[in-house]
Amino acid sequence: MAEQLTYCEVHPDRETSLRCNKCGRLMCPDCAVSTPVGYRCKQCVRQHDNKFFSASQNDYVIIAAVCAIVSAIAAAIVLQIGIPPLFLIFIAIPLGGGISELGLRLTQRRRGRQSANIAAAAIVAGGLVGAFVNMTMQVGRVPSVELMVRVLMSNFSIPILIGIMAFFAYSRFKGRA
Ligand SMILES: [Zn+2]
Ligand SMILES: [Zn+2]
Repeated sequence: MAEQLTYCEVHPDRETSLRCNKCGRLMCPDCAVSTPVGYRCKQCVRQHDNKFFSASQNDYVIIAAVCAIVSAIAAAIVLQIGIPPLFLIFIAIPLGGGISELGLRLTQRRRGRQSANIAAAAIVAGGLVGAFVNMTMQVGRVPSVELMVRVLMSNFSIPILIGIMAFFAYSRFKGRA
């Protein structure tokens, strides 16, 4: 009696004996995903990811808002009182961590695939808006692009502040703590 041939459930023309170690479905090498706990089918991997990445659209909005607002205020204050770039590092690191902690608390620590990207983008955007508002108040009118660039590049305080905050917030959201 010939051995019973088995085929991939997604690709019925491909012979395989490999099974997902979670649900047991037959899968060809193309359909198998190598995970730390063995080969699994794409459906099981997706289900697992969805459990971990539980953030909703609403959570993204909250994270973006928190990051943008705190970053805007920080940038405006930094420009206003002119903190030397070296000191900025000591402010930006805890601030970046603090922003993400606040965002995580407000969203019951739910994370999404995009949380880190959204947090970093919102920090950069918020910081630029904060700098823009501060300059507008200082010169009494909307600053020209040229002035914006000159102020941003004059002592690099805003790029340093925003960059470090964004980096630490990004790592925090990427981390699985
Ligand atoms: Zn499976
Ligand atoms: Zn297949």
